[in-house]
Amino acid sequence: MSIIDRLNNAKDAIARAASDCGRDPATVTLVCVTKTFPAEDVLPLLDAGQRVFGENRVQEAMGKWPALREKFPGIELHLIGPLQSNKTKEAVETFDVIQSVDREKIAQALAEEMTKQGKRPRLFIQVNTGAEPQKAGVLPQDADAFFAACRDKYGLEISGLMCVPPVDEQASPHFALLADIARRNGVPELSMGMSSDFELAIQLGATYVRVGSAIMGAREYPQA
Ligand SMILES: *Cc1c(COP(=O)(O)O)cnc(C)c1O
Repeated sequence: MSIIDRLNNAKDAIARAASDCGRDPATVTLVCVTKTFPAEDVLPLLDAGQRVFGENRVQEAMGKWPALREKFPGIELHLIGPLQSNKTKEAVETFDVIQSVDREKIAQALAEEMTKQGKRPRLFIQVNTGAEPQKAGVLPQDADAFFAACRDKYGLEISGLMCVPPVDEQASPHFALLADIARRNGVPELSMGMSSDFELAIQLGATYVRVGSAIMGAREYPQA
């Protein structure tokens, strides 16, 4: 099966999952996750019209996407991996959406950098729904306070939430928890669901699904 077949299969499955639960398929955006894959592997997807992509490392994205952006208008690039405060300048320069805002130090650095650059990427708060010590994201019980700090202290507009459930657990309670936090904080976007569980995430309200290996194939080296 070609990469284009896999892209089309993923798009069909997303549309079907949305229709099956009475949602308009246009309310779910496919973020194609291209981490670890070189630009030449991304080209066929761009040629086929895919425009929304995710990368989890700032450095890798900086090496790959500026040249692709010159050739293909309308690219929307999402940062889906952890952000270090010393990389916020590059992150604001490189990404249209930053999905991994998870602590005040980052919120403050982003606010300063966005003012400096006059550029406002859309921001999502990452929630560590499983409270895993090794995982990025604000803890669920701290999410409301962090929302308030982002808005009131740093003047940041938050568009949505993102989570990566624990690999060894049912994803649905994590998706439901994320949707609940989004609802009570009044944000519309939910980035949840990956190759193995995006249909379930759509049932539970995902507006962005992050699909990597189901389209790109297996990654040669694992990357969190
Ligand atoms: C790698 C990654 C994905 C894509 O995972 P697949 O299982 O390959 O679809 C989604 N979200 C995040 C945060 C990732 O790091």
